[in-house]
Amino acid sequence: MKTFFKEIVINTSKRLEAINITRYVEEAVRESGIQNGICLVFAPHATAAIIANEFEPGLIDDYIEFIKQVFKPDYRWKHNLIDNNAHAHLASAVIGPSRIFPVKDGRLVRGTWQEIILLELDGPRSSRRIIVEVLGE
Ligand code: ZN
Repeated sequence: MKTFFKEIVINTSKRLEAINITRYVEEAVRESGIQNGICLVFAPHATAAIIANEFEPGLIDDYIEFIKQVFKPDYRWKHNLIDNNAHAHLASAVIGPSRIFPVKDGRLVRGTWQEIILLELDGPRSSRRIIVEVLGE
């Protein structure tokens, strides 16, 4: 079995933001040379998340609105006394910091409407790291 490890660095520009990272992940899979296996996409951050879904402008706004409605940035969370980003920790904890995709015949397998999206939950940040690890043969 072969393994391939790559770190992608993304700059974010808003407090809440959805960023399409599909092309970076697919590039990493090509670079890996691995034909069949799995691809882990992992954000080593407590205030970001990774999802696989449609990257349509209305829906991008809906992701952000959903996060605001569910995780309530203005609520008096206890953690907000420390650094005012409890909503970001809660959303990251619930949505999750990683996704796994199959790799088949040298290509990342995903549905037509599944883009790989980084959710910035407490930006802007100058260097969000995304780890892409490909395992297989
Ligand atoms: Zn915090």
